[in-house]
Amino acid sequence: MSLELLIATTNAGKLREYERLLAGLPVSLRSLADLSEAPPEVAETGATFEANALLKARAYSARSGWLTLADDSGLLVDALDGAPSVHSARYAPTSEARNAKLLAALEGVPLERRTARFVCVVAAVLPRADGDLTIMAEGRLEGRIALAPRGEGGFGYDPIFLLPDGRTVAELLPEEKDAISHRGRAQAKLKPLLLSLLEVAARRS
Ligand code: IMP
Repeated sequence: MSLELLIATTNAGKLREYERLLAGLPVSLRSLADLSEAPPEVAETGATFEANALLKARAYSARSGWLTLADDSGLLVDALDGAPSVHSARYAPTSEARNAKLLAALEGVPLERRTARFVCVVAAVLPRADGDLTIMAEGRLEGRIALAPRGEGGFGYDPIFLLPDGRTVAELLPEEKDAISHRGRAQAKLKPLLLSLLEVAARRS
C-alpha cells in the first residue's frame, strides 16, 4: 500500500490541477472529501504566500495524520502596486466579480503597463511524532492583464491573464497550462524533494 498524500485545497480548480501534476508519484492521492469529518476552513492569516501555504499544510496534516500538500497562490499586478496578492481569493465574492473588479481598476491603463504575475508557493508536511518534515517550492508565471476576459478553460483569473503569445491562460489546453503555470513550475521543483520525503517515510514504516 502506498503512502497517502492529501491535497489540502477547497478550490476545485486547484484540486484538478494537482491530480494531474502528481499523477505517477508512488502515493495514494486523497482530497479533503476523504477526511472522516469535514475539516474546519483554515483561516489564511499569513502576510505571505509562504506563511499561508505552511499554515494550511500544517493544519491539515495534523488533522489527517497524512503527508499533506497545500498551496497558496495569487495574482500580483504591477500597476496596482502588487495587489491583489495574498488577498486574491477575497478580492470580490466570485471569480467573475474578481475579474470585473480588476479590469475596472485597470480602466485606461495601456497594455504595456498591465504587467502581472501569478505566484504559487506549495508546501508539503510529513507529520511525525519526533518532528514534522516540511518542504516548500515556489513557481511564477509572467504575463499581462488582458483588456477583456477570453477563454473557457482553467479557473479564477485565467480568462484575463494574457501570455506573450497573445492567448489567455483560459485558452490553453490543461497540459499546456501545467507545463508553464506557476503551479506546474512550483510542483516541478517540489517533486524531487517529495520523492526524498517519500523515501524517509518508507524507511520509517
Ligand atoms: P488561495 O491560494 O486559495 O488563497 O487562492 C488564490 C486566488 O488566486 C484564488 O482566487 C484563485 O482563483 C487565484 N488563482 C490561483 N491560481 C490561479 C490560477 O492558476 N489561475 C487563475 N487564478 C488563480
